[in-house]
Order: sequence, then C-alpha cells, then structure tokens
Amino acid sequence: MNDIFEGIVERIDANLSRVRAGDALFNCEVRKKLFRYDPLKTEIAVGDRVRFEIIGEGTGVIEEVLPRKTRLSRRAVMKDAEEQIIAANIDQLVSVSSAKEPRLNTRLIDRYLVVAEKHNFNAIICINKIDIADTNELKMQMKPYENLPYEILYISALKKTNIDKLENLLKNKISILSGYSGVGKSSIINAILPGAEIETEEVSAKWKKGKHKTTAVTMFHLPFGGYIIDTPGIREFGTLDFNPKEVSHFFPEIFKAGKQCRFSDCTHTHETGCAVKTAVA
Ligand code: GDP
Ligand code: ZN
Repeated sequence: MNDIFEGIVERIDANLSRVRAGDALFNCEVRKKLFRYDPLKTEIAVGDRVRFEIIGEGTGVIEEVLPRKTRLSRRAVMKDAEEQIIAANIDQLVSVSSAKEPRLNTRLIDRYLVVAEKHNFNAIICINKIDIADTNELKMQMKPYENLPYEILYISALKKTNIDKLENLLKNKISILSGYSGVGKSSIINAILPGAEIETEEVSAKWKKGKHKTTAVTMFHLPFGGYIIDTPGIREFGTLDFNPKEVSHFFPEIFKAGKQCRFSDCTHTHETGCAVKTAVA
C-alpha cells in the first residue's frame, strides 16, 4: 500500500482529474468503487479536496472525496439527483461591476449578495474602472453598501489600482469572479495572472459548442496561493442559478408576505395589491 496524499482537484478533463498537492500536480483517476457506493456523493468537481494514492510519475488514483464545505451546482435550488456540481469548496464570490462602461448596476450587486448568502460564500464587492468613474456619483451609489458586512474594493484593472488589495483578499481562498460581460473580469485576471487569458478562451470555445455534460470548470491557481474561477459557464448565470422571482425565497419575510400579493408573479415594486409593500409600510 502506497502513501495517501491530500490535494485539491483544480481541473477535470474527461475521466482525469488534475490534483494539486503543494507544488506538485498529479493526473488522477477515481477509484471505481467510489462510484459504486454513492455516485452522487463521489461525483468530482473542481475545488474538491481528495485523498489519493500515487501510482506513477505524476499519476495517481483518488480514493476519497472529503466532505464539501460549500458547493455550487446547476440545480442548487432543488435537492434532487439531477444536481450537478460545478465547483466545491468555494470560499467567496467576488461580484465585479464597473463604475462606468457598462454603468454600475447595483441591483446586480444585490443579486450576487443573495447568491453568496444562499451558498454560504463570503461576498466581496469589487468596482472596477475607477479610472474613468465620476467619483461623486459612485460614492452616492455605493453609500447603501458601506454599512453592510461586505468588503468593498474600488479598483482599476487597467491602471493596476488596488490590485494588491484584491490579491490580499484572494490569497489562499477559492474565489469565484462574477459579473456582466465587459466589466473587466478578464482584465482583472490578467492583471493578477498574466497568461491566464489563453485558458479562458479555450474553455469558452468548449462551452459555446453546448457540451453541457461536461462540468469542466477551470480554476486558476494563484502564484501567491488560492484559486480564481472564471468561466463563461458561470459568468453567464447572472444570478448563478436561479430565476429572479425565486430570490425572495431567500428572504423569508418577503416570501411569507408575498403569498398574499394580488399577482402571483408580483415583483413587489410597482404592483397594486402588493402585500410585501403593505408589510413594509
Ligand atoms: P470581461 O468581459 O468582464 O472579461 O471584461 P474585459 O476584461 O474583457 O474588459 C472589457 C473592456 O473594459 C475592455 O475593453 C477593457 O480594456 C476595459 N477595461 C477593463 N478594465 C478596465 C479599467 O480598469 N479601466 C478602464 N478604463 N477600462 C477597463
Ligand atoms: Zn408583491
């Protein structure tokens, strides 16, 4: 019996998982018996902490998937067998917006905060493109967030402003970068990790062909420790996984009051006969 090592799955290609243990990388298969016992539990995702046996130069066999701290899945709302795990053990979600071009959309920030709460991820609010921002307007827009228990970062990927602060927050964590296209996610990754862009494009091409069976998501290993996940698959989720109408389900008070609204698809904003607005009043 060889020694058993512990590592993190940072990439999955077909049946091979790339596992990192410190600075060493291993291409690992999964011990068949793992699937026989509990296929749901042993489905492997990036971010999984695994125990593996080394069987050759840079190769190994995964013997055990350790319990997941958090999980991101395609059917996160439903607890049924269709749940497909996209990534495990994500520590935090970085909601990326731009101050301008595209203009700041605070409702999107709100959604990401809800997504993070729901998944038990820590949330970081990151505002990019401060080099072209109207500072006063930005201050006003961001005022409501200043009293919330979230870190807010104002950065410029282009001018490399406050990138070091972002790096500090990413250090030794598994983070997911989310935000609309054009806000500067790729630029941020390039500022932190020159050369990562190539891989981003590869993944993107794969997704465009609609290979939804592949759970493949790549985590970028950070030279100072930790990982960032950024794939179009996750980017394009917008709210990551659920429909805006479901959002209120994660605010129990709203959900309860909302049952009394006149319209079943009430957004609790402008409708007449909205029980949520009445309750707030
Ligand atoms: P992504 O779609 O979120 O990955 O966004 P990109 O990284 O592709 O950036 C979209 C556009 O915004 C590009 O033209 C970038 O050059 C530009 N951009 C990114 N970061 C900054 C920034 O900090 N300041 C300014 N002025 N432009 C930026
Ligand atoms: Zn309502």
